Amino acid sequence: MKTEYVTIDERSPDMDALHYAGQIIKEGGLVAFPTETVYGLGADALNEKAAAKIYEAKGRPSDNPLIVHITDMADLSRIVRKVPESALVLSEELWPGPLTMIFEKKEIVPDATTGGLSTVAVRFPSNRIAQLLIMESGGFIAAPSANRSGRPSPTLAEHCREDLDGRVDMIIDGGPVGIGVESTIIDMTAKRPELLRPGFVTMEMLEQLLDGIDRDPSLDRTGMPDELSPAPAPRAPGMKYRHYAPRGEMVLVDGDHEAAKEYISGRINEEKEKGKKTAVICADEDRERFGADIVLSYGRRNDYACLARNLFTLLRTCDEKGADVIFAETVPGNGLGDALMNRMRKAAGYRIVNV
Ligand code: AMP
Ligand code: MG
Repeated sequence: MKTEYVTIDERSPDMDALHYAGQIIKEGGLVAFPTETVYGLGADALNEKAAAKIYEAKGRPSDNPLIVHITDMADLSRIVRKVPESALVLSEELWPGPLTMIFEKKEIVPDATTGGLSTVAVRFPSNRIAQLLIMESGGFIAAPSANRSGRPSPTLAEHCREDLDGRVDMIIDGGPVGIGVESTIIDMTAKRPELLRPGFVTMEMLEQLLDGIDRDPSLDRTGMPDELSPAPAPRAPGMKYRHYAPRGEMVLVDGDHEAAKEYISGRINEEKEKGKKTAVICADEDRERFGADIVLSYGRRNDYACLARNLFTLLRTCDEKGADVIFAETVPGNGLGDALMNRMRKAAGYRIVNV
């Protein structure tokens, strides 16, 4: 299939182009589009065949459910059975925005959209291009991230092209995304809401708005599950798959900042001697410190919003430049650091060295 490309400016969106993109989705096609978190790969959420195409284009396991994107609160009750009071509070405060909530689904939502689950994940994005596309498409777009399964999520249209050219009908270039990590996911079907995936909306923000909130225990595991200590299965099915992974081996270094830099420098030398191509992801201030083949900075030290925006691009750059080993320091796990460490631990396959 030939993929069509259009560029749309979020500040003055080309309505003709969006209408055309909406027609593609209404007719059962696939369109990659920007959201404030990462680029999504959209299809009509209520069309079984269209939703199934997403799995094929991405090479995504069929039990990994999609998120349904809406742009009108009145549409929520068309697809979910019950909206608990606490979900109304969250929607008032945080929608439109980077928060996904899980509800019991109505019959109208096909199994292909929910990976066979009786629940459905719903989000109301704030990106204007996403909102207009949803409107033009009939109100319900099923979209996971617009990458090939297993690769880092796309934060630029160029990443969608790398992964999906020739596999989707259209890619909308709306420029770089603002946030860079996927939405926070919270399950609203249990008695107490439960955080299933950390994101830009943090645990701390949710605690302030809710009476109580649980946390999926699998989020806090520190290593890969093995036979002796099997890890609990994550409640958000997508979180069990290998994810965000660069082709090289990524190692996270945890501990005192100076000791971590020392350790990374030593390891870079060792790996170079073995003939490996080394990469380090670090803060601007530390660039000069490392003799790695590839030194990539994410921005000023401790600017975690900047790290979030750049993380997936940097992992893709490591692939492009052929890095065999990639070193990065851990970040503190509170606030946005919760989401960052979640993605980085997975990218590193839980290889974490304590210094
Ligand atoms: P992506 O946007 O690519 O991260 O894909 C959406 C993710 O949302 C999936 O990988 C799941 O982890 C999560 N998700 C979607 N629907 C559900 C659901 N009904 N229950 C739990 N998690 C879900
Ligand atoms: Mg994804």
